[in-house]
Amino acid sequence: MELLIASGNPKKLVEIELFLSGTGVEVLSPADVGGIEDVVEDRPTFEANAVKKACAAAAAAGKWTLADDSGLEVDHLKGAPGIHSARYSGTHGDDAANNQRLLMELQGVKGAERSARFFCALALARPDGELEATFEGSVYGQILEERVGTNDFGYDPFFLFTEEGHQQTGRGFAELEPKEKSEVSHRGRALTALREYLMATTQKA
Ligand code: IMP
Repeated sequence: MELLIASGNPKKLVEIELFLSGTGVEVLSPADVGGIEDVVEDRPTFEANAVKKACAAAAAAGKWTLADDSGLEVDHLKGAPGIHSARYSGTHGDDAANNQRLLMELQGVKGAERSARFFCALALARPDGELEATFEGSVYGQILEERVGTNDFGYDPFFLFTEEGHQQTGRGFAELEPKEKSEVSHRGRALTALREYLMATTQKA
Protein backbone atom coordinates (compact mmCIF):
# COMPACT_ATOMS: atom_id res chain seq x y z
CA MET A 1 0.00 0.00 0.00
CA GLU A 2 1.25 3.49 -0.90
CA LEU A 3 0.65 6.18 1.71
CA LEU A 4 1.26 9.85 1.08
CA ILE A 5 2.34 11.79 4.20
CA ALA A 6 0.81 15.26 3.87
CA SER A 7 3.41 17.17 5.86
CA GLY A 8 5.98 19.73 4.88
CA ASN A 9 7.79 19.19 8.19
CA PRO A 10 10.80 16.97 7.40
CA LYS A 11 11.22 15.96 11.06
CA LYS A 12 7.67 14.62 11.25
CA LEU A 13 8.16 12.83 7.94
CA VAL A 14 11.29 11.10 9.21
CA GLU A 15 9.51 9.94 12.41
CA ILE A 16 6.52 8.59 10.48
CA GLU A 17 8.67 6.90 7.84
CA LEU A 18 10.84 5.24 10.48
CA PHE A 19 7.78 4.01 12.36
CA LEU A 20 6.16 2.50 9.27
CA SER A 21 9.31 0.89 7.89
CA GLY A 22 8.91 -2.88 7.65
CA THR A 23 5.09 -2.75 7.76
CA GLY A 24 4.66 -3.09 4.00
CA VAL A 25 3.45 0.50 3.73
CA GLU A 26 5.34 2.47 1.09
CA VAL A 27 5.62 6.00 2.37
CA LEU A 28 5.42 8.81 -0.19
CA SER A 29 6.59 12.33 0.64
CA PRO A 30 4.94 15.42 -0.86
CA ALA A 31 7.91 15.65 -3.25
CA ASP A 32 7.09 12.16 -4.58
CA VAL A 33 3.73 13.46 -5.86
CA GLY A 34 5.02 16.75 -7.21
CA GLY A 35 4.30 18.70 -4.02
CA ILE A 36 1.13 19.45 -2.07
CA GLU A 37 -0.69 22.75 -1.55
CA ASP A 38 -0.34 24.46 1.82
CA VAL A 39 -3.58 24.17 3.77
CA VAL A 40 -4.68 26.92 6.17
CA GLU A 41 -4.83 25.30 9.62
CA ASP A 42 -7.84 27.30 10.79
CA ARG A 43 -9.90 24.59 12.53
CA PRO A 44 -10.38 24.68 16.32
CA THR A 45 -8.90 21.24 17.13
CA PHE A 46 -5.86 19.15 16.21
CA GLU A 47 -8.16 16.48 14.82
CA ALA A 48 -10.12 18.84 12.57
CA ASN A 49 -6.90 20.35 11.20
CA ALA A 50 -5.45 16.89 10.51
CA VAL A 51 -8.66 15.89 8.69
CA LYS A 52 -8.58 19.07 6.60
CA LYS A 53 -4.93 18.48 5.59
CA ALA A 54 -5.37 14.77 4.83
CA CYS A 55 -8.55 15.13 2.75
CA ALA A 56 -7.22 18.06 0.70
CA ALA A 57 -3.95 16.29 -0.16
CA ALA A 58 -5.67 12.95 -0.88
CA ALA A 59 -8.15 14.56 -3.26
CA ALA A 60 -5.37 16.40 -5.10
CA ALA A 61 -2.95 13.46 -5.35
CA GLY A 62 -5.48 10.62 -5.68
CA LYS A 63 -3.57 8.61 -3.04
CA TRP A 64 -4.22 7.18 0.41
CA THR A 65 -2.98 10.03 2.60
CA LEU A 66 -2.01 10.51 6.23
CA ALA A 67 -1.82 13.93 7.91
CA ASP A 68 -0.58 14.78 11.40
CA ASP A 69 -1.56 17.77 13.47
CA SER A 70 0.21 17.95 16.78
CA GLY A 71 1.44 20.26 19.46
CA LEU A 72 2.24 20.98 23.07
CA GLU A 73 -0.33 21.72 25.81
CA VAL A 74 1.02 23.22 29.03
CA ASP A 75 -1.26 23.00 32.08
CA HIS A 76 -0.09 26.25 33.69
CA LEU A 77 -0.80 28.04 30.37
CA LYS A 78 -4.34 26.57 30.18
CA GLY A 79 -3.40 24.34 27.26
CA ALA A 80 -1.33 26.87 25.27
CA PRO A 81 0.40 26.82 22.85
CA GLY A 82 -1.96 24.00 21.73
CA ILE A 83 -3.07 24.22 18.10
CA HIS A 84 -0.84 27.31 17.76
CA SER A 85 2.32 25.36 18.67
CA ALA A 86 4.04 25.82 15.31
CA ARG A 87 3.57 29.59 15.42
CA TYR A 88 3.59 30.42 19.15
CA SER A 89 6.20 33.15 18.71
CA GLY A 90 4.36 34.66 15.76
CA THR A 91 6.61 33.17 13.08
CA HIS A 92 5.50 29.79 11.70
CA GLY A 93 8.04 27.03 12.28
CA ASP A 94 10.60 29.11 14.20
CA ASP A 95 11.43 26.51 16.88
CA ALA A 96 14.01 28.67 18.68
CA ALA A 97 11.62 31.62 18.99
CA ASN A 98 8.73 29.34 20.03
CA ASN A 99 10.85 27.81 22.80
CA GLN A 100 11.97 31.24 23.92
CA ARG A 101 8.37 32.38 24.31
CA LEU A 102 7.48 29.18 26.17
CA LEU A 103 10.29 29.74 28.69
CA MET A 104 9.26 33.36 29.12
CA GLU A 105 5.62 32.43 29.79
CA LEU A 106 6.77 29.93 32.44
CA GLN A 107 9.21 32.23 34.23
CA GLY A 108 8.97 31.71 38.01
CA VAL A 109 6.94 28.48 37.60
CA LYS A 110 8.74 25.51 39.13
CA GLY A 111 8.93 21.69 38.90
CA ALA A 112 5.64 19.80 38.70
CA GLU A 113 3.79 23.08 38.04
CA ARG A 114 5.44 22.96 34.60
CA SER A 115 3.48 19.84 33.59
CA ALA A 116 2.58 19.44 29.91
CA ARG A 117 1.62 16.95 27.26
CA PHE A 118 2.26 16.53 23.58
CA PHE A 119 -0.82 15.57 21.60
CA CYS A 120 -0.98 14.12 18.10
CA ALA A 121 -4.01 13.67 15.86
CA LEU A 122 -3.62 11.62 12.68
CA ALA A 123 -6.16 11.56 9.86
CA LEU A 124 -6.23 8.89 7.16
CA ALA A 125 -7.99 9.87 3.92
CA ARG A 126 -8.96 7.73 0.94
CA PRO A 127 -7.75 8.43 -2.60
CA ASP A 128 -11.09 10.13 -3.37
CA GLY A 129 -10.48 12.68 -0.61
CA GLU A 130 -13.00 11.21 1.88
CA LEU A 131 -12.01 10.61 5.49
CA GLU A 132 -11.31 6.97 6.41
CA ALA A 133 -10.39 7.25 10.13
CA THR A 134 -8.63 9.31 12.78
CA PHE A 135 -6.21 8.28 15.53
CA GLU A 136 -4.69 10.07 18.50
CA GLY A 137 -1.90 9.83 21.03
CA SER A 138 -0.60 11.80 24.02
CA VAL A 139 2.53 11.80 26.14
CA TYR A 140 3.02 13.46 29.53
CA GLY A 141 5.98 15.36 30.86
CA GLN A 142 7.34 18.63 32.18
CA ILE A 143 8.88 21.70 30.61
CA LEU A 144 12.55 22.02 31.51
CA GLU A 145 14.15 25.34 32.42
CA GLU A 146 17.33 24.50 30.51
CA ARG A 147 17.56 22.62 27.23
CA VAL A 148 18.87 19.03 27.21
CA GLY A 149 19.90 16.75 24.35
CA THR A 150 20.79 17.34 20.76
CA ASN A 151 17.97 15.82 18.69
CA ASP A 152 16.29 19.14 17.95
CA PHE A 153 12.68 19.10 16.85
CA GLY A 154 10.21 21.73 18.00
CA TYR A 155 9.83 21.73 21.78
CA ASP A 156 11.77 18.45 22.29
CA PRO A 157 14.87 20.09 23.86
CA PHE A 158 12.67 21.39 26.71
CA PHE A 159 10.40 18.35 27.17
CA LEU A 160 11.20 15.99 30.04
CA PHE A 161 9.42 12.62 29.83
CA THR A 162 7.96 11.90 33.29
CA GLU A 163 5.58 8.95 32.82
CA GLU A 164 6.65 6.22 35.21
CA GLY A 165 7.77 2.71 34.35
CA HIS A 166 9.55 3.26 31.05
CA GLN A 167 13.18 2.98 30.13
CA GLN A 168 12.88 6.58 28.86
CA THR A 169 11.46 7.95 32.18
CA GLY A 170 13.32 11.02 33.42
CA ARG A 171 15.03 11.75 30.10
CA GLY A 172 14.52 14.67 27.76
CA PHE A 173 12.89 13.98 24.38
CA ALA A 174 15.90 15.49 22.59
CA GLU A 175 18.15 12.97 24.36
CA LEU A 176 16.29 9.96 22.95
CA GLU A 177 17.24 8.04 19.83
CA PRO A 178 14.44 8.25 17.21
CA LYS A 179 13.25 4.70 17.98
CA GLU A 180 13.23 5.33 21.75
CA LYS A 181 11.17 8.49 21.22
CA SER A 182 8.67 6.69 18.95
CA GLU A 183 8.08 4.00 21.60
CA VAL A 184 6.52 6.56 23.99
CA SER A 185 5.77 9.69 21.99
CA HIS A 186 2.35 11.11 21.14
CA ARG A 187 3.06 10.47 17.44
CA GLY A 188 4.34 6.94 18.09
CA ARG A 189 1.19 6.14 20.08
CA ALA A 190 -1.11 7.53 17.38
CA LEU A 191 0.88 5.63 14.73
CA THR A 192 0.52 2.41 16.74
CA ALA A 193 -3.26 2.86 16.58
CA LEU A 194 -3.01 3.49 12.81
CA ARG A 195 -0.82 0.40 12.30
CA GLU A 196 -3.31 -1.78 14.21
CA TYR A 197 -6.16 -0.36 12.14
CA LEU A 198 -4.33 -1.03 8.86
CA MET A 199 -3.46 -4.57 9.91
CA ALA A 200 -7.06 -5.32 10.94
CA THR A 201 -8.41 -3.81 7.71
CA THR A 202 -5.99 -5.69 5.44
CA GLN A 203 -6.72 -8.96 7.23
CA LYS A 204 -10.46 -8.50 6.65
CA ALA A 205 -9.96 -7.73 2.93
P1 IMP B 1 1.80 21.33 12.99
O1 IMP B 1 2.68 21.14 11.80
O2 IMP B 1 0.80 22.42 12.87
O3 IMP B 1 1.19 20.05 13.46
O4 IMP B 1 2.79 21.86 14.12
C1 IMP B 1 3.23 21.08 15.14
C2 IMP B 1 4.16 21.89 16.03
O5 IMP B 1 4.08 21.32 17.34
C3 IMP B 1 5.62 21.76 15.59
O6 IMP B 1 6.06 22.86 14.89
C4 IMP B 1 6.34 21.66 16.91
O7 IMP B 1 6.62 22.95 17.38
C5 IMP B 1 5.33 21.02 17.85
N1 IMP B 1 5.52 19.56 17.90
C6 IMP B 1 4.69 18.60 17.42
N2 IMP B 1 5.20 17.38 17.65
C7 IMP B 1 6.37 17.57 18.25
C8 IMP B 1 7.36 16.66 18.72
O8 IMP B 1 7.30 15.43 18.58
N3 IMP B 1 8.42 17.24 19.31
C9 IMP B 1 8.56 18.59 19.46
N4 IMP B 1 7.68 19.46 19.03
C10 IMP B 1 6.57 18.95 18.43
